[in-house]
Amino acid sequence: MTVTRFAPSPTGRLHVGNIRTALHNWMLAKQAGGRFLLRIDDTDAARSREEYVDAIRADLAWLGIAIDGEERQSQRLHHYERAFEQLRASGRIYPAYESAQELELKRKVALGRGLPPIYDRAALSLTDEQRAAKEAEGIAPHWRFKLDHVEPIAWEDGVRGAQKFDPAQLSDPVIRRANGSWLYMLPSAVDDIEMGVTQVLRGEDHVSNTAVQIQMFTALGAPPPRFAHEALLVGREGKLSKRLGSLGCDAFRERGIEPEAIVALLARLGTSLPVEPIADRDVLLNTFDLSTFGRAPAKFDEDELGRLNAAIVHQFEYERVAAHLPEGMDEAGWHAIRPNLSRIAEAGDWWRIVTGPVDGHTFGEDDRAYLAEAARVMESNDLFASGEPWQALTTALKGTTGRKGKALFLPLRQALTGMDHGPDMGELLPLIGAERAHARLVAAAAAG
Ligand code: GLU
Repeated sequence: MTVTRFAPSPTGRLHVGNIRTALHNWMLAKQAGGRFLLRIDDTDAARSREEYVDAIRADLAWLGIAIDGEERQSQRLHHYERAFEQLRASGRIYPAYESAQELELKRKVALGRGLPPIYDRAALSLTDEQRAAKEAEGIAPHWRFKLDHVEPIAWEDGVRGAQKFDPAQLSDPVIRRANGSWLYMLPSAVDDIEMGVTQVLRGEDHVSNTAVQIQMFTALGAPPPRFAHEALLVGREGKLSKRLGSLGCDAFRERGIEPEAIVALLARLGTSLPVEPIADRDVLLNTFDLSTFGRAPAKFDEDELGRLNAAIVHQFEYERVAAHLPEGMDEAGWHAIRPNLSRIAEAGDWWRIVTGPVDGHTFGEDDRAYLAEAARVMESNDLFASGEPWQALTTALKGTTGRKGKALFLPLRQALTGMDHGPDMGELLPLIGAERAHARLVAAAAAG
């Protein structure tokens, strides 16, 4: 059974970058008929906020990313404690006493000598007496995980292919602070083991964490899950980080971007598959494939999202949008107007050309006579009886006036809608109805 998880820290709102990670993990699970978990990484009590937990749940629900279970790290501290004791007993965790300033100094010295700033493991060679002396001075230790330097850490990455790390090139990570609180690394590995996570898909900024965590899995006696690291998302002009606040679900919703458009874009961005306006999630699921992911950063382009959104809105059936349409706008109205929209909210503007009043348009003498003729044709024939009044009207006018093409159609459109372009008149005229249409033609014919 495939189990994936999305593990946000509730220290802010979701943005395109982590929405993409959530979506891909959801897709991996659903594609395999597996489970998708939401894990709230809230061990950092000072920065985690309940309102963000609620917002994460609401955003996922709005996106249609349904979770099969939710876990919270703050409620699992005893599990981390147990793993900590186990690793300590087996010699894989050691106390260290350096202050932040001391560590910074060591970094600078190493860099100054042209060496990588790897922790020198000084704390490992402290004697019992030296440690006791530190603690007598009131210095509480923080705790590091001792990497095993015996052999390279290797895995087959779902996106990046074969990966290999020399553990001696990594610092032993601090896993627990002096005040007892947890850093991300160990709790995440413990959770992945205990929650049966089979596949971890996350951003490539986690690649070196994976190397460390693979040793943690092994040290805890568990097989590591499969790992995949996707290239990061960038904006058109480079880093997204500055604008992330405007790239969350609330902002998208305000701009009339539909969740289907976000999902269609993020499902395929950065892959070799074409980004297409696919509103049917099964189609996206059936074609989702980690092997199509590229190594280059994926470019997020808001204009592309806007275009995709319009194309997706054009496909929506009436039931999908009914609750968001102006009063009185029925299925026929939606079908007539939908090709003109880039956002559902624009339906109201277009609907006004049906309900009126429409903008007055000034016509020359010829066109006024023509429109007066159009009004007469309407009076003497029941054009609407045919169900295709536009066809009937223009055919009759072609016969009586000899007009054709633009001269035939444009003055009618202008008189009937107040605009030069817009929805298909064949669909629109039945919605405007005989009475309103006649009145608009008469008014246009009279306006000099
Ligand atoms: N809370 C971590 C993050 O947001 C989770 C990373 C992971 O997927 O393991 O970066």
